[in-house]
Amino acid sequence: MNQPPVPARRVLLAAPRGFCAGVDRAVTAVEKALEQFGAPIYVRHEIVHNKYVVRTLQDKGAIFVEATAEVPAGSIVMFSAHGVAPRVRAEAAERGLTTIDATCPLVTKVHKEAVRYAEEEYDILLIGHEGHEEVIGTSGEAPDHITLIGGPEDAANVTVRDESKVVWLSQTTLSVDETMGTVDALKTRFPLLLSPPSDDICYATQNRQTGVKELAAQCELVIVVGSLNSSNSVRMVEVALQAGAPAAYLVDNADGIDATWLREVRTVGLTSGASAPESLVDGVLERLAELGYRDVGTVRTADETITFSLPHELRRDLRAEASGRTRGAPHTA
Ligand code: SF4
Repeated sequence: MNQPPVPARRVLLAAPRGFCAGVDRAVTAVEKALEQFGAPIYVRHEIVHNKYVVRTLQDKGAIFVEATAEVPAGSIVMFSAHGVAPRVRAEAAERGLTTIDATCPLVTKVHKEAVRYAEEEYDILLIGHEGHEEVIGTSGEAPDHITLIGGPEDAANVTVRDESKVVWLSQTTLSVDETMGTVDALKTRFPLLLSPPSDDICYATQNRQTGVKELAAQCELVIVVGSLNSSNSVRMVEVALQAGAPAAYLVDNADGIDATWLREVRTVGLTSGASAPESLVDGVLERLAELGYRDVGTVRTADETITFSLPHELRRDLRAEASGRTRGAPHTA
C-alpha cells in the first residue's frame, strides 16, 4: 500500500524585516565616525539593542558606556538611536565632550511633540515601558508635564491638573493593538484627551507587527531574530502569540533554536526585529535547512523605502574642533 506523502517542510520569511531606517542610520554613523575620526568613538548606551551589532562595533573601536561621566574629557561621544534627555546633552557640554547625535528622527519627533505640548501647558500621558532608554529620554524633555502610563491599568489612577488639557504620546516600539487599548482606557477617563498629530509608533514597528501577524496565520511556529532587550523584537513575539501562532520564540541567532520546537511543525515563520542584522537571519535559515526546512518562501506585507540622512556632525572635522576647544575655543556639544 502507498504511504501518504510526507508534507513538505518550509519556511515563510517576512518582508519587510530587520534593520529599520533609524537603526541603519545609527550603525552607519558609528562606522563612519570611526573611519573619519579614528578610534575610540564613545557611544552612550548600546547604539541599538542588538548584542551582535554592539560586539561588531566594539571590535572596530567603539566603546560603549552607560553615562557621559565615563567618557574622558575631549573625546567624541555618540548618542544612541533611542535618544537622550536634555540633561545628558548639558552634561556632555559641561564636560567638553564633542557629540554626535544618532537619535532616530522619529524619536526626535516625539521629543519635539513633548516640548510643544508642555509649552502649551498640557499634561502629557506617555505610554511606554518604565526604564526603557527612549522613555527616559522623552520624559526628560518635560519631566514636570509627563506621566508614564504602562498600560490600561494605569489609566484608572492617573491624575491630571486640567482634564481639558491632556494629550497622549507613546514610545515608538510598542504593540499597536495594546497601545490603542490603553488609549481607549485613557479616553474613558478623559473624554477630551488629545491624540498626537500622527502615530508615534513608527512605520518599522507597525510593518514588522503586521508581517508577524500574517506569519502567525500561516505557520505553526514563528521565530523572531532579535535581542531580549530589543523592545520591538519582544513585542513581535507577543503579537505573534496574540494573533494565534501556536508557538513563537525570540532568538539572538541560530544557536538559540531548539530542535524540539520543530516537532510536528510543517511551516516555520521567520522574521527579525528592527535592530537585528540580516546576517543573523541567514544563519537561522542555514540552521533550519539542516533541520529539513529547505523550501523558503516570502510573505510581503509592505514595501519600505524610508531612509534617513546621517547625523550632520559627520560632515564636520570633529577632532579639529575638539583640539580647538582644548586650546580655549568655544565648544559645540
Ligand atoms: Fe526609528 Fe522606528 Fe527604527 Fe526606532 S524602530 S530606530 S523609531 S525607525
